[in-house]
Amino acid sequence: MFEPLGGWIDGRWITRTPHGTFDVRNPATGERLATLPVMADAETVAAIEAAERAWQIPAPLEARRAWLEGIRDRLLAHRETLARTITLENGKPLREARAEVEYAAGFFGFFATQLHRLEPETWPGPPPVTQWTVLHSPAGVVGLITPWNFPLAMLAKKFAAALAAGCAAVIKPALPTPLSAIALARLAEQSGVPPGRVNLLLGPPEPIGAVLCRHPAVRLISFTGSTAVGRRLLAATAPHVKRLALELGGHAPFLVFEDADLPAALDALIANKFRAGGQTCICTNRVYVHQSIAEPFLNALAHRVAQLRVGNGLDPQTDIGPLIHRAAFDKVAAHVRDALERGAQRLVGHDPPRPEHDWGAFYPPTVLSRVTTDMLVCREETFGPVVPVATFETEEDAIAAANNTPYGLAAYFFTRDPARARRCIARLRFGHIGWNTGSGPRPETPFGGMKQSGFGREGGWHGLLEFCEPQVVARAHG
Ligand code: NAD
Repeated sequence: MFEPLGGWIDGRWITRTPHGTFDVRNPATGERLATLPVMADAETVAAIEAAERAWQIPAPLEARRAWLEGIRDRLLAHRETLARTITLENGKPLREARAEVEYAAGFFGFFATQLHRLEPETWPGPPPVTQWTVLHSPAGVVGLITPWNFPLAMLAKKFAAALAAGCAAVIKPALPTPLSAIALARLAEQSGVPPGRVNLLLGPPEPIGAVLCRHPAVRLISFTGSTAVGRRLLAATAPHVKRLALELGGHAPFLVFEDADLPAALDALIANKFRAGGQTCICTNRVYVHQSIAEPFLNALAHRVAQLRVGNGLDPQTDIGPLIHRAAFDKVAAHVRDALERGAQRLVGHDPPRPEHDWGAFYPPTVLSRVTTDMLVCREETFGPVVPVATFETEEDAIAAANNTPYGLAAYFFTRDPARARRCIARLRFGHIGWNTGSGPRPETPFGGMKQSGFGREGGWHGLLEFCEPQVVARAHG
């Protein structure tokens, strides 16, 4: 665990406030991991004002590079402690938590190599203007609001880009998982990031979110979370004409054509679907398999899924940890119940007892067949270890079913036919597409959604420019 346990405002650790405390608990066992101070309006304003002062002190690109590399190196040096922190607060298996630490470190390393993109560009102009200069100025104070499902990596994506761009950040992590964010703030401090360049606020989303939305110094809010909260942020920032980058919910389709490499498709599906117990935005939410191969595919899938073990993420045997809380359990259970009532068949899984508390929400991996488009599993993000499988007859039907959603984050398809792949890529309206793979994003490539999965991109040099304001200087000799 990284001490001290508190918020970080203007270079000071805040371990007490007048607003009381909240507990962080292990979602597998209910063990209390920490008791942290609740922050509210006054702390949020103090953090924003500190950030406003901090970003106006120019930070040369070399200084930013040193901060980014310092944080990357420290993340990797503390990999085991950080992985354990993630598993304790989020519940995911330790091996996934280790991968998350490496993924997070990758963003700091990558943006350290991209700073040259921020050098001014110059163009000659027709007189009387003799030179045009394009500056990539920092956006200024940025609010970073992150979810609990990748408590370190979702923050790393934003924070690394913000720091590289020369911004100052006010961070608000998710209520159940603040410990990874505390660790990251501590590593930033140790890496020489000056007071005020990064500030960390803890506690319930309101009133912190409301102040971030209305304070004039906050020029950009980068948010990862649900589409419902994204919509609220759009409404709350509209009167202030504030920039937003929204990484919202997904509802990923996974298409298996008749010419697919079935073992490869199954491997990819299992890895993609059950990462974080099915609680990732790019998780497959619905599978469409060509009817001619449905039977062998379902048999093999059921066999594989039945082997997966549910348990405490610290146990090396565990494949699937707990759901984050009881509300998540209730949603998954409701989706499965709805599918069964509408005629789906449960090939693997059973009805588990409802957890008595907000922890211990273990849900068994479940495979459903005979799934139809009217079922909740085909319409909404389930966010749990459930694989609903429907069949299709034609490529046209498969693509139409995949696109039949307001979401557009990730989609996957398996085919050996390059011509078909080109048609799928051209027609699937998703920001992230996997062809014969269920792989997620990388630091080097831009990731983000279409439609109601949001706008803006994280990762890649596109992700760096999200945190910049292009500023143009036209110069004439005078
Ligand atoms: P959530 O929307 O409930 O919360 C996300 C963050 O927003 C948390 O920090 C929360 O405290 C905060 N928040 C909640 N209400 C707020 C308000 N009124 N003002 C300001 N902040 C507020 O989402 P979650 O349950 O933490 O995460 C799961 C969701 O996130 C899923 O829908 C998932 O698909 C999505 N997600 C998307 C991506 C992506 O890259 N697109 C990545 C991970 C998760």
